[in-house]
Amino acid sequence: MTGARARPGKRSSAAGTQGHTRMLEFPFTPHLMPATILDGNKIAAEIRAEAATAVKAMSARGLRPGLAVVLAGNNPASEVYVRGKVKASEETGIYSEKHTPSADTTTEELLALVADLNRRDEIDGILVQLPLPSQVDSKKVLLAVDPAKDVDGFHPMNVGFLSTQRPGLVPCTPAGIMEMLQRSGIKVAGQEAVVIGRSDIVGKPMAMLLLNANATITVCHSKTRDLPEVCRRADILVAAIGRAGMVTRDFVRAGATVIDVGMNRITDQAEFKHLFPNNPKREETFRTKGSLLVGDVHPEVAEIAGAITPVPGGVGPLTIAVLMSNTVKAAKMRRGSRVPELMRA
Ligand code: NDP
Repeated sequence: MTGARARPGKRSSAAGTQGHTRMLEFPFTPHLMPATILDGNKIAAEIRAEAATAVKAMSARGLRPGLAVVLAGNNPASEVYVRGKVKASEETGIYSEKHTPSADTTTEELLALVADLNRRDEIDGILVQLPLPSQVDSKKVLLAVDPAKDVDGFHPMNVGFLSTQRPGLVPCTPAGIMEMLQRSGIKVAGQEAVVIGRSDIVGKPMAMLLLNANATITVCHSKTRDLPEVCRRADILVAAIGRAGMVTRDFVRAGATVIDVGMNRITDQAEFKHLFPNNPKREETFRTKGSLLVGDVHPEVAEIAGAITPVPGGVGPLTIAVLMSNTVKAAKMRRGSRVPELMRA
């Protein structure tokens, strides 16, 4: 273990003072300061309120943004995610519609559906919920989405726009994390940022956004040597791995900002005890539900981090909030020129 002592001076510069943070209720060792909690729910509510204001102004000029969600098959987790996205659209005032092809749908059927959505002027955003059924060529379907309507930001055209710093649509989770850092007053330019994970939807775009914001980037993955040592370089550490509690205290420099993207559902009692040896509140939830949603970062990290995102209530809510703002952005970029004053708003 290294760097077990918090550095209050460092912490105050890492964590912002703009009201997006709260102190962690964590059973911590008395001589250590608990990390500042970055409140994803609060920041997500702000982003959604801003999107709702824009939607209202656009709707008044006959340009109500529209989102189409494609949910193929019967994946229970996908059904929950899509329900959340449709509900958020309704709350934001965005027109939304859900398409639910059956589990035996084909690539051709989905391509025809996407082509129809591409053609419809009132649809600004198309979201194809992954994973698609195994017989479907997912890459082909995603490639067929009009890049101007690609609110997930997964199309190679948008990936290229991001890496060449041109206006485009950026994947929701990393874009939400950048909003969180900015709105919490956490400095990015000139900082050392380490991203664990190199997926197309989180790790790579996250690294690119941090690089575009002038951080010095290291991207780690399953073949990285001396992972904890590499991670200890970080002023900002982003964990997007998919392994419950893998990032322990020895990965983290005292005072660093730690962003936990992981969403892992644990059901094993021993694993629960390893992560939460002394947390009666969580134990109650675990016992009642038979499972618990946990991040990639071990709870002990809150004892030495300067600022940290909780799970749940950290990165998760930001993803849906940015989907709303991406839909507004797509509508403005594609149709906004028809009402020039909206583009200036
Ligand atoms: P992927 O499985 O696509 O990628 C995981 C990455 O972690 C890979 O790059 C992999 O390396 C790396 N990795 C796996 N094991 C290790 C290890 N032992 N050491 C170092 N690196 C490792 O996952 P995603 O990027 O899609 O998602 C990551 C997590 O974030 C998941 O828990 C997911 O549920 C969550 N998530 C949360 C969202 C939210 O809104 N909060 C949104 C999206 C995802 P390699 O490339 O070498 O295999």
